[in-house]
Amino acid sequence: MVPRVILKENLIKKSQQKKITSSPNYKERFFVLDTHELKYSKIHPRKRPMVKGCIQLVRIKCVENVCSDVPIPCSYQYPFQVFYDNYYLYIFAPDNDCRQRWVRALKEETKNNDLVAKYHPNFWMDGKWKCCKKTEKLAAGCHVYDPAAFDSKEPLSKLPHLKTTEHGDGEVTLIALQNYSPLGDNDLPIEKDKEYILINCSNCNWWIVKNSSGETGFVPCTYVAKKFGDDLKRFEWYNENITRAEAEDMLKDEGREGAFMVRDSSQAGIYTVSIFTKALGLNGEQDPKVKHYHIKQTEMGEATFYLAEKYLFCTIPQLIHYHQHNAAGLITRLRWPVSQDGACYLHIDDRLIDQWEIDPKEMTVGQELGIGQFGRVYEGIWRDKKVAVKTIREEKMSDDDFKQEARVMMKVSHSKVVKLYGVCTQCYPMCLVFEFMDNGNLSAYLQARKGQTSPDVMLRMCMDASEGMAYLESSNYLHRDLAARNCLVSHKSEVKISDFGMTRFVLDDQYTSSIGSKFPVKWSAPEVIKYNQFSSKSDVWSFGVLMWEVYNEGRLPYEKKSNLEVIEALNAGMRLLKPHLAPDEVYLLMEWCWKEKPSERPSFAVLLHELAALSHPRREMA
Ligand code: ADP
Repeated sequence: MVPRVILKENLIKKSQQKKITSSPNYKERFFVLDTHELKYSKIHPRKRPMVKGCIQLVRIKCVENVCSDVPIPCSYQYPFQVFYDNYYLYIFAPDNDCRQRWVRALKEETKNNDLVAKYHPNFWMDGKWKCCKKTEKLAAGCHVYDPAAFDSKEPLSKLPHLKTTEHGDGEVTLIALQNYSPLGDNDLPIEKDKEYILINCSNCNWWIVKNSSGETGFVPCTYVAKKFGDDLKRFEWYNENITRAEAEDMLKDEGREGAFMVRDSSQAGIYTVSIFTKALGLNGEQDPKVKHYHIKQTEMGEATFYLAEKYLFCTIPQLIHYHQHNAAGLITRLRWPVSQDGACYLHIDDRLIDQWEIDPKEMTVGQELGIGQFGRVYEGIWRDKKVAVKTIREEKMSDDDFKQEARVMMKVSHSKVVKLYGVCTQCYPMCLVFEFMDNGNLSAYLQARKGQTSPDVMLRMCMDASEGMAYLESSNYLHRDLAARNCLVSHKSEVKISDFGMTRFVLDDQYTSSIGSKFPVKWSAPEVIKYNQFSSKSDVWSFGVLMWEVYNEGRLPYEKKSNLEVIEALNAGMRLLKPHLAPDEVYLLMEWCWKEKPSERPSFAVLLHELAALSHPRREMA
């Protein structure tokens, strides 16, 4: 049957980032929906459109609006999603009507497909679902998918299962999980952590709520959580009607460090968190056990829930989310939610990680080499090779995110990049096993040999580092914390890039926020300091500073200036001065790296070429 065209229009699509390492972009495309497929093409002014992508409708499993308050970095502000095979395509429409037209038509055409039961109403972003915070892209959705519902907010009374919450005794209090700025006239702005009264929750996407001044309006239901009780049911860690003994059996069966659940306590109205741990007993003996903690509440204030120590939260989901990343007084961090309907919630990345898992029995650990951002670093032997073993203190790293990325990092293989051999998640604390670099970090190496490093060797070091970075750049991998301290030196005095991409897993605000005291301001490009905008070109800026460190034999850049003074100096157009040992041509390269506009900075490939030309001037001239 000849396909019949249903809709055609210019829309914007976000790149699908099928490779984890590719960075997102937004492109205008001409979309055509017919009865067989959804196709999008690039339009050239005087050429035939070039088809850039085509999705057969039978492969589509969900089409729905995306409700989000993240700033949308393109001119069309009305996002919707098409989930097909294992991919998410985000499309942006210029207005809500247009979006509804497409969602409605796509839903209509795909309603008999094999659809998902639940979907994610918010974006997948920075390695997480913004709605449910799950860190696995293919994790089941957190919101019921209704293939017949269109996101018209009215008339609500025509929607099935109308359920209006009564005022008065039956009043349900909601907590805003994030700010929401109205997209339409009937919406109500809400503020994170403030309380609202639920008026109507019959629409599966938009609820009507009332604020403390009595104003009512629509809000995306994923932006709010009911303050008590039944709301917990949608979390995989909550088990209703389960006894302490049953909880212990389930968690012991699971047998994984940090397996946990939230259950109703035997004391009415109280919740208990039960956690399984294999932590050693006081005498060093193996003592697997389940520990139980009541979720306690203070009397006063908005944030009232807490567990072992007094870290207070407005809602139980917020409290659990925090302790999924921080033990903070618990025997161990909450790692693996265990649910009544079966096994532990298994992250796909964990299954994939198995092949990268290092067996602790194959490894011996020796003396300490130093203390890093995530924990202590030791010398070790693994499969007859000398290795560096980096231990990861669990409160320091978002390790679920890391495990997902470890697969990609282990594929990075270049003679000028320190090799990650594997991860040992069976050890406590978890550790990462790297290629051993005899001469430690570059900054300390240069300082220790002050006066002994010739400019030729310095140039060689910069070339090594630029070679490693050019490789990462060509693999679309950002370093984000390039500095001499994050380069290591081999026994042959080669310089290799280390610690690439690791800052994303740091759980310390002082380090990750550009106003934090540990943020590497002195190595950061202006756009990183101002907008957190990382790119290969922001790595290039840091590389300029690294070159400066090399030619100053490991001196600290802007030695006497505070971070704030550095920012002021950069804003005034000032730059680091030429090191005495640096030839003019080398300083010109540094200055090129420090161009205000990222687009005016060279790529690493160009830098490598320029540095190589400086190291072989005669050959170049011949
Ligand atoms: P972080 O960057 O996480 O703060 P580092 O990687 O700098 O921590 O590790 C701390 C110290 O351990 C380094 O300065 C270095 O001396 C040593 N070290 C780290 N990795 C290795 C390695 N692969 N080989 C030899 N020594 C290492």
